[in-house]
Amino acid sequence: MKPAPFRYFRPDTADEALELLAEYGSQAKLLAGGQSLIPTMNFRLSQPAVLIDLNRLGDLAWIEEARRGLKIGAMTRQRAAERSDAVRSGAPLLSEAIPFISHPQVRNRGTIGGSLAHADPAAELPALMVALDAQFLVRNRGAERRVPAADFYTGLFATALAEDEMLLSVEVPKVPKRTGWAFEEISRRHGDYALVGVATTLTLDRKGRCDDARIVLLSVGEGPVTASEAVAGLKGQEPTTDAVRLAAEVTATRDIDPPSDIHASSAYRRQLARVLTSRALTRAAARARGERGSAGEAR
Ligand code: FAD
Repeated sequence: MKPAPFRYFRPDTADEALELLAEYGSQAKLLAGGQSLIPTMNFRLSQPAVLIDLNRLGDLAWIEEARRGLKIGAMTRQRAAERSDAVRSGAPLLSEAIPFISHPQVRNRGTIGGSLAHADPAAELPALMVALDAQFLVRNRGAERRVPAADFYTGLFATALAEDEMLLSVEVPKVPKRTGWAFEEISRRHGDYALVGVATTLTLDRKGRCDDARIVLLSVGEGPVTASEAVAGLKGQEPTTDAVRLAAEVTATRDIDPPSDIHASSAYRRQLARVLTSRALTRAAARARGERGSAGEAR
């Protein structure tokens, strides 16, 4: 359980980190909370020649309420986001879901940016950001670009980040009026990675019909999986029990093709997706209608 030898740098600013990344490129790894990277280095699944420690970068650890939504710096600890009033009011879906990420000890160190960049298909945050239609701000030494969360995830543990790029922050748009949200997951024990999880948002029009919805699943593919066919069927419909049940069925049978592994069979994952999507959409619809007792009201 010892990592292979590496050179260690601890820059004070994001610009210094980007200089180092430009110099060492493919040989380098950024170290954020270390909750995923250090175990993989200890198992020698990852053997970077250079480690660039971001933990002195105070300029990347912040949460800001902006006019168009919520902004979160990449080095913000998951626990800080979980406890933030700004996150609770600006992105309540995140507040609801972050406690499902492992245990407080892991969230105390683990960062928002680290989880998003690591791109574990069983991680909550990537699916949540796709559901929230977030934008990722990415930079290298010379240029900055914005990448929609849905385009950021390109495969198993793979992202649109180039070797010399760093994730700086995430922007989550304001929750539209008459929008509800819900997150559901099942794991063997609380804090374990999810066997299946689902993040939903649902916006109603003035007549109570579904104007927009997002259903994004984790642990059913190589990254966050959007249930596009289910959403297309739901749009324009009142989210009645039958409509929700149909959307959950379409999600489970047409939108996903989950793998079998040592944790769960494909068939079991489909059944979990069916049940969890139905629960999540039901709660999101109740919130969108402003029903009390649904653990929240519409925005
Ligand atoms: P690190 O481990 O430091 O880095 C992870 C990767 O991201 C590395 O490749 C690193 O180079 C890269 N990186 C980090 N920051 C940046 C950046 N700003 N720009 C570009 N690349 C960057 N996660 C879940 O989602 N759900 C769980 O249920 C869960 N359970 C866990 C249980 C245990 C026991 C442990 C140890 C971890 C668990 N995790 C879980 C992982 C945890 O959430 C990690 O914190 C997270 O995946 C990585 O965040 P980090 O800040 O620790 O990143």
